[in-house]
Amino acid sequence: MLAESVLEGLDPEQRAVAEAVKGPVCVLAGAGTGKTRAITHRIAYATLTGVVTPQRVLAVTFTTRAAGELRSRLRQLGAPGVQARTFHAAALRQLTYFWPRVVGGEPPRIIDSKIALVADAAKACRLALGRTELRDVASEIEWAKVTQHRPEDYPAAVARAGRRPPAEVVDVARVYAMYEQLRRERNLLDFEGMLELTAAVLTEHREVANQVREQYRYFVVDEFQDVNPLQKMLLDTWLGDRDDLCVVGDPNQTIYSFTGASPAHLLDFTRDHPDAKVIQLVRDYRSTPQVVRLANGVIGQARGEGAIRSGLELVAQRDQGPEPVFNEYDDEVAEADDAARRARKLIEEGVPAREIAILYRINAQSETYESALAAAGVPYVLRGAERFFERPEVKQAVYMLRAATRAGGDAETDGMGLIQTVRHVLSGAGFSDRPPEGAGAARARWESLAALAQLAEDMAADNPVAGLPEFVAELEERAAAQHAPPLEGVTLASLHAAKGLEWDAVFLVGLVEGTLPIIYAETPAQIEEERRLLYVGVTRARVHLSLSWALSRSPGGARHRRPSRFLGGLTGKTTTHTPARADRTKRRTAKGPLPCRVCGRPLTAAVERKLGRCEDCPSELNEELLIALKEWRARVSAEQKIPAYVVFTDATLQAIAEHGPESMEDLARIPGVGKVKLDKYGEAVLGLCGP
Ligand code: ATP
Ligand code: MG
Repeated sequence: MLAESVLEGLDPEQRAVAEAVKGPVCVLAGAGTGKTRAITHRIAYATLTGVVTPQRVLAVTFTTRAAGELRSRLRQLGAPGVQARTFHAAALRQLTYFWPRVVGGEPPRIIDSKIALVADAAKACRLALGRTELRDVASEIEWAKVTQHRPEDYPAAVARAGRRPPAEVVDVARVYAMYEQLRRERNLLDFEGMLELTAAVLTEHREVANQVREQYRYFVVDEFQDVNPLQKMLLDTWLGDRDDLCVVGDPNQTIYSFTGASPAHLLDFTRDHPDAKVIQLVRDYRSTPQVVRLANGVIGQARGEGAIRSGLELVAQRDQGPEPVFNEYDDEVAEADDAARRARKLIEEGVPAREIAILYRINAQSETYESALAAAGVPYVLRGAERFFERPEVKQAVYMLRAATRAGGDAETDGMGLIQTVRHVLSGAGFSDRPPEGAGAARARWESLAALAQLAEDMAADNPVAGLPEFVAELEERAAAQHAPPLEGVTLASLHAAKGLEWDAVFLVGLVEGTLPIIYAETPAQIEEERRLLYVGVTRARVHLSLSWALSRSPGGARHRRPSRFLGGLTGKTTTHTPARADRTKRRTAKGPLPCRVCGRPLTAAVERKLGRCEDCPSELNEELLIALKEWRARVSAEQKIPAYVVFTDATLQAIAEHGPESMEDLARIPGVGKVKLDKYGEAVLGLCGP
């Protein structure tokens, strides 16, 4: 591919990124503005113009999936051979390579979960911790290690960071110390230890550092807002005193600071690199203007303490689309059922299932949605359960495709030929045009093969001259990266797992206080991180966006939940779904939750809606007026022989006494004052409010 053609399809700012091939570069940009696109094009451009050879480039990102995505995009751009890895994978590779030479002996075994070791450590400290506590202590140790605090500094670090530890500080510190001791005795290495050790080996052994620096001289890091101090240290070690580093990120998408990551490295990039070129992208190519408006609204409310001020506002580039929809349900089951129903409707209307996602705050929410989708006959895939290429049917299919390539039967196929050839080979592994009945293992097997067939179609669309050998090469690359192709199903994923991805239709579900923000988010900084999670969720949608919440957990339960405060003032028209009852229509359209005029939180309780504020928010109540209104109401109810609350309820009188309406229009705006009451009592009430 010609170098110049790589620059086509980039806007002027993205092009500036791609053309800034040397020296430190920092791209600060909002969601969907083409950051990932700009850096892949930059790498391709640099390799094609001979600025750097592909083998000398290291592109780093945070998840295996994202790394696989980078590699795919680079291959398509004509830059194969570029290493795209996670920090962990890159470190592990270097450590494994240099261990025998510089350390020797049995290399430590890498553990991917701390739980078992933390449990042993707690036992050795004679602490009885439950499963959840163990998990929380493990996360806490992770935080301490990522932020580079030893057990003895841990208590002070907690105090400085204003963290609330999952157990007594001294106990966490003891377990942490014991954990490290046991880990060393057993010759184990956790992820943090691995990064640390790699950096240490490079620092202490000049010849190792030289070799690594000779190998990699051109660094690119995606999602840099979520880099943690350990990863930053490793990156600095790789770089040495060179400066061919390009970082891209969006401070508004910082969603891992609870694990010790910090957007400061991105925001203060020019402090470390005063001569860095800083480029901003603002054009949003992913989402419709409707989605972009909501995204800007969500993040625009992040103003107080704990907010990250980035000044990045998205400017929509796409054509108009449908307005985001807001739905309120009585309970979670109703919410999930309706999401499944609407997902099915979208599929019937032609949106591919793999272009739909249901995103939630915590993984435990997935179960309700799995059941609802299964009941509605909608296929789905759970993010995280990704070991696609490990599945027996996939291994077998890849084996068969490889054999077919060796047989060399299709050297001259065109794009259509590729699809047909692949389907033909897959049929030998049990693939058919239609899925088998039921939801069991046979169905799962078919879904895997269908995903491979889909991959062939995608490849044929991207590259009409690709044949079977290219396809098999692609599969092997992906298998090596554990990069599963999207299965044909609706994606179920947590908001954290959705970062960097995009779908035509996104359902953001379970948006209630206590879930988003999550109950344990207490400090302003923690609350702001939750707001950014919602921003990440909103910005995943290309066209269709649905936001919903349920007032109770189970059907028939107390309806005491409240919609997320982050929706305050943004919900527009909300559809309220109440259970089918003989005396009620199934669904009615109501005004969305009014925001509290003191704190902005959406109001759901009837009393609060009338007051126009949360019950416990400070009021500017005119006590004298309230007494006068109550006396007047008593007179009217006596004269007309009707109960007092039929005239006006207490909450309405209180709202009137707080607002002090000066005109009929003012009065009409107070909830609980309808047309009839306005005609009957308006003049009298205004008389009492008087000037
Ligand atoms: P995120 O912050 O969510 O990671 P991002 O900034 O990395 O987003 P990309 O994923 O690179 O954004 O791009 C978002 C979408 O917009 C992609 O579908 C991409 O192909 C498309 N896109 C980006 N730039 C352009 C462009 N100049 N012309 C057309 N489409 C573009
Ligand atoms: Mg991206």
